[in-house]
Amino acid sequence: MPATLDALHADITTLAVDAIVNAAKPSLLGGGGVDGAIHRAAGPELLQACRLLDGCATGEAKLTPGFRLPARFVVHTVGPVWRGGLQGEAGLLASCYRRSLEVAAAAGARSIAFPAISTGVYGYPADAAAEVALAAVQQALPGLPGIERVRFCCFSAADLARYLALLARTPG
Ligand code: ADP
Repeated sequence: MPATLDALHADITTLAVDAIVNAAKPSLLGGGGVDGAIHRAAGPELLQACRLLDGCATGEAKLTPGFRLPARFVVHTVGPVWRGGLQGEAGLLASCYRRSLEVAAAAGARSIAFPAISTGVYGYPADAAAEVALAAVQQALPGLPGIERVRFCCFSAADLARYLALLARTPG
């Protein structure tokens, strides 16, 4: 069965999926935006767990438990800072989605929710980021049959509209 892809307008910390993805900073030691929300909702144990991970490279992903979150796992990935688009940003952003799926699948997750990585403080243009996100997920899924559901968690109505339009154009 091919995985189900959908988009929803929500706070990612409320989602009852196996894994939520955090758009983290390279230190993994906390930030604002979605990272701040996830740490607040998961509780202080999450920061303790992150301290043991020794940071994370841009485009890579690392796993922790979800602690007080409804999600069992948090996958921490570090998106690229937008520097105009000619510094490998698209490849790095695609890598965030692919590696997050791989890390979640390796832990046995069947459902996963992504925020719009890099589109906040890191400044990646939202339309371009959504296209990279969807393409990367669609490319990775055939190799990860354990993943049954991928949710794009949009924090604004504009982001939701963007993802719904892209998904409507998607074959299958
Ligand atoms: P980055 O540094 O990767 O740009 P940000 O956290 O600044 O990360 O923003 C990434 C995206 O996450 C933005 O689209 C922002 O609106 C969204 N976001 C912020 N808080 C939440 C939340 N609680 N749930 C889902 N998405 C969120």
